[in-house]
Amino acid sequence: MTQPAPTAPAVLARYEQSLLGVFGRPKLVLDHGAGDFVWDVDGNRYLDLVGGLAVNCLGHAHPEVAAAVAQQAARLIHVSNFFTTPQQVELAERLLAVSGAPTGSAVFFANSGTEANEAAVKLARRTGRPGLLATTGAFHGRSTGALALTHKPAYREPFAPLLPGVLPHVPYNDPDALRAVFAEHGDEIGAFVVEPVQGEAGVLPADPEYLGLARELTTRHGALLVLDEIQSGIGRTGVWFAHQRAGITPDAITVAKGLGGGFPIGALITYGTDVTALLGAGQHGTTFGGNPLACAAGLAVLEVIERDGVLERVEQVGAKLTDAIVGLAHPQIAGMRGRGMLQGISLNAPISPRACVLGQDAGFILNPVREDTIRLAPSLLLETEHIDEFVAALSGILDTAAEENAAAAAGS
Ligand SMILES: *Cc1c(COP(=O)(O)O)cnc(C)c1O
Repeated sequence: MTQPAPTAPAVLARYEQSLLGVFGRPKLVLDHGAGDFVWDVDGNRYLDLVGGLAVNCLGHAHPEVAAAVAQQAARLIHVSNFFTTPQQVELAERLLAVSGAPTGSAVFFANSGTEANEAAVKLARRTGRPGLLATTGAFHGRSTGALALTHKPAYREPFAPLLPGVLPHVPYNDPDALRAVFAEHGDEIGAFVVEPVQGEAGVLPADPEYLGLARELTTRHGALLVLDEIQSGIGRTGVWFAHQRAGITPDAITVAKGLGGGFPIGALITYGTDVTALLGAGQHGTTFGGNPLACAAGLAVLEVIERDGVLERVEQVGAKLTDAIVGLAHPQIAGMRGRGMLQGISLNAPISPRACVLGQDAGFILNPVREDTIRLAPSLLLETEHIDEFVAALSGILDTAAEENAAAAAGS
């Protein structure tokens, strides 16, 4: 017997009766995807410019990722960490190679970005110093440890008390503020945790000089420099990891989102023998982390990015995307932030939420990361003709959003 196809309203009604309300009402009920597009259960097609929040780095249903997952699932999905698999070791080696980590570096596999950051917190605690420093605007995850490093008070305050030892958040990308906090608290800080590009804060890249200063101060004061590359890593900005443009070597990085091409996986990479030695046998663990299925997905992703010159492509296509949007010279667009396949369209008015709703109605998935910023985090393989489709529609979307905003302001 064939089931009747589910309609979106019917699924959403059941959603409300069965799922915890933390995400609000879902905007769509999706059915399948291919490349740059996803389809909802009613057959509507959308150009996906958010990529599952910077996760689907090779687009949807990439044949090699799908085949790698299917083949590995038929062979061996999971083993405990009493054992290893060739897939796990191979992925660790390839991550160490692309991260440029020195001899003696190592990988710990987790299942998410949050878990990777939790591992970094434990690494920092092993320095013997209780202090953790993070920045304003930071997003590091929602577990009570990672949440203590996350800045947004609305996320943190209802769950106090969180992990102790976290200093007041230091203003992001502000060299003087960083110097001041290290001058005062340098001996207490076990780790400074910072995103080379803040994604959730609205796509805010740190200056290379700021990252250089962070390296200098942490080294001088004996603290670890931990870079959260969960959103900015795996080629998203046209280099493997965004910090590589600043020419610095961190003590640890955390990776997740793009790594599995959509399959859940996270990783902590520790740089060099001394940092790696901070977490010894029995001091951390996971049941699912590093399972062969997740690692097979990660291997397929890294293989395609390397083999197909995807980093260069991201750089070129990202520049096209920036130029095309700037070239609109639209009165509502203040400018572009970020690069590659992580960009924020900065707007002159708080019309991003409305523009993203109108965009979805017109067949584009967009993210209103801030009231005045639309975030784009599409597939690293985004086709240039799809950029043209989006840019052709963007002016009309912003015109309508601005008119509605003006009308609402006049009416109130
Ligand atoms: C998404 C994100 C996280 C959290 O990752 P999850 O997989 O959602 O746990 C942490 N840090 C940054 C920078 C992120 O973008």
